[in-house]
Amino acid sequence: MKIYSFPRGGIHFEDSTVPSRDTSVTAFLPGLSVIPMIQHSGKRASPTVSVGDQVREGMLIGQGQGPGSANIHATVPGRVVRQVFWKTPEGHANDALVIRMEGAFEKLGKREESFSWKGLSSQDLRNIISDYGIVEMEMPGRPVSEMISGFKAGAESLALVVRCVFDDPWLAADYTLCRERLGAVAEGSAITAKAAGANRILFAVSHREQNLGAKLLAEAEQWDLPASLVLVGSRYPQRNRRELELVLRVYEKKENTSLGDLLILNPAALAAVHDAVKFQKPILDRYIAVGGSAVKAPQVIKARIGTRLKEIFAECGGFVGTPKCIASGSPLHGRMVTDLDEPVIKTTTAVFALHNACLGGKQSRGCISCGECRFVCPVGLDPEELYKRSLITGKKGGIGRAGECHGCGCCEVVCPSRLPLSTAIIHYARGED
Ligand code: SF4
Ligand code: SF4
Repeated sequence: MKIYSFPRGGIHFEDSTVPSRDTSVTAFLPGLSVIPMIQHSGKRASPTVSVGDQVREGMLIGQGQGPGSANIHATVPGRVVRQVFWKTPEGHANDALVIRMEGAFEKLGKREESFSWKGLSSQDLRNIISDYGIVEMEMPGRPVSEMISGFKAGAESLALVVRCVFDDPWLAADYTLCRERLGAVAEGSAITAKAAGANRILFAVSHREQNLGAKLLAEAEQWDLPASLVLVGSRYPQRNRRELELVLRVYEKKENTSLGDLLILNPAALAAVHDAVKFQKPILDRYIAVGGSAVKAPQVIKARIGTRLKEIFAECGGFVGTPKCIASGSPLHGRMVTDLDEPVIKTTTAVFALHNACLGGKQSRGCISCGECRFVCPVGLDPEELYKRSLITGKKGGIGRAGECHGCGCCEVVCPSRLPLSTAIIHYARGED
């Protein structure tokens, strides 16, 4: 089968400190759960319970407020013992309900009653997806019901793209979920396609995982919708929307077909749609890759939303020595973690602790004009020039092409001077200090 890859730039990113993708381990249930009211892109959800209230597993505890916001649910049964407020390292305000676990679980360990979705209308399905607070399960965490409705407005033809593209080893958790919950991902794709009115499903799968793609396709054949497999490259950032869309448009031409608009979702979000519609279950847990050079026993963990990161690292044997960098996401485009009481949220995909400084965290010298950053930029930008302009002209000289930067971090990874290129360029483009 032909392999479709984006035309220029990118890097092959390997990391020996990621956990094995072979299997997952279920984390201990947390005694205290911290459930933030912002786990998504838009406005905070508004709490529907107060300190002192008893909550059930899966109960609505935060009501989404308008565009971009999503409902929040309790992930364990118990009592709300505190409401806490803090500012994220990026300066955004957030608050959370702290639940002390007590009482019986209604879903965990119980035989789940399954509901048929075949007779439900697209609108019914979208309502369920919205009620259960399903978001895209990675940053920025847009609500899936809104992503779907955005297309319903005018799309003549629509393809649901299932993004099984593993161009970064820190996507290990998504891969493990795909393997362990293959049926849920395939059925969740069929449900989402129906909810969105999509004409077809496209499994975009990294060529190294061709077998996984074939299994997904075989599983999807039982649903009444055309489905096909597109093998894509493994070079980072193939998974980025821009680079993925580029190759799918090439595929479209080559196959002499018309895909129309593309609704791109990852496997974790589709499995969550499956659980919401078939089992009337909100997002209670998440697969997370935990690793890095400072973690004793890296593994893929299935943890309840609200579990604090210190418990997640403890589950992996704790640290070896003192980490210099703790972050979530990926070393390529991660977000620093400054407080280990921070909890797992719907968009947490990986957390890691390193013995060395995080990317861009320790500049060793000035730019030596080696040109490496230009060579790897998939957009064809000149990161050296944009970085220098951001330092010299501040925000007043016009942003030029900086607005095209999608923050993949390739330039920063290859820079021998360890300059914080991508962070500086993005701040520059946004007009931030
Ligand atoms: S890779 Fe770093 S040192 Fe080389 S040209 Fe780009 S900014 Fe300068
Ligand atoms: S300039 Fe932006 S798009 Fe180009 S490599 Fe750097 S982070 Fe990626």
